[in-house]
Amino acid sequence: MNINKLIRPSVLNLKKYSSARDEFSDKKDDFQFMDANENPFDTEYNRYPDPYQKGLKKKLADLKTISDENIVLGNGSDEILDLIIRVFCEPQKDEILSLSPSYGMYEVLAQINNVTYKTCRLNSEFQLDVKAFLNEVSKNTKMLILCSPNNPTGALLQVASIKKVLDDFKGIVVIDEAYIDFSANSSFINELAHYENLIVTQTFSKAAGLAGIRLGVCYASQAICKAINKIKLPYNVNTLTQQKALQFLENIDKIKSQIEIIKSERSVLFKVLESLNYVEKVYPSDANFILVKVDDANKRYQELLNFGIVVRNRTNVEMCENCLRISVGNPQENQKLIYVLKEIDR
Ligand SMILES: *Cc1c(COP(=O)(O)O)cnc(C)c1O
Repeated sequence: MNINKLIRPSVLNLKKYSSARDEFSDKKDDFQFMDANENPFDTEYNRYPDPYQKGLKKKLADLKTISDENIVLGNGSDEILDLIIRVFCEPQKDEILSLSPSYGMYEVLAQINNVTYKTCRLNSEFQLDVKAFLNEVSKNTKMLILCSPNNPTGALLQVASIKKVLDDFKGIVVIDEAYIDFSANSSFINELAHYENLIVTQTFSKAAGLAGIRLGVCYASQAICKAINKIKLPYNVNTLTQQKALQFLENIDKIKSQIEIIKSERSVLFKVLESLNYVEKVYPSDANFILVKVDDANKRYQELLNFGIVVRNRTNVEMCENCLRISVGNPQENQKLIYVLKEIDR
């Protein structure tokens, strides 16, 4: 597969901006840096960050047993998704096909880039109907976006279905794995060697507990990473974020136990939710939230709010009528939630 044929000609032909740290990245202590118009007095942060985040990428690459040339980092995975769209989708011509219901940001990013966004409904189990999905592919469909585990449904898409899509579609396939660490399945990163058109996005915002530092990760073939690097802003991931993320990766075991707690709390909440009279369906979740169908979402949302609990009302989302999306809290928060859920069950 020739990835360059999928890249927008204007991006392919672009002469990349070369920053000071691009042109000279050797970092010897006895060098005197007088090339980037920085303030020479040490404030800890007077120097520009490494535009390619080499230290952080090396650590991440080791953890995922992948090459650092298969990684691009961004200011949250929202930035990564925006960059991917800008590399491949020609405005007013190319189209993106995704699923519904899914993450609302895809449509917004497509609209910002003036790219047509189409969706195919998930089936009643919130699974991908491969045949119906591929039927929606037109000659202008440049990119597919699959979110697994999916937001707001919580369901992991079946691996076999995703593989069928990958085998059939010759454009770019993005798999958004923001919630993969809460699922029992392994990541599609392991399939990168088989599919040059596959892009897997992950984030430090959910399982890693670092939503505030804004760090998103793209795993893809070298050809794709090279194209994204060409258009990303030179210093898109700041020094503080790079330091904090490195620190986090050096203590990765701590987060693993938190994830285990969140998963066991998720099953406790699941059972409680199922026992309530006003709950019509609790959707199985591979993420750190649960989608639940109630008798009257607006009413239940307000009742929870009256007790100081904020959940996400998804009743206006396609196929999610009267659904609330509840993030799994810490054990203490979940106890209060359970108390209130039962209190309003009358
Ligand atoms: C939360 C979320 C993200 C994360 O976006 P960031 O910009 O990395 O915080 C991405 N995709 C989905 C489906 C999400 O729910």
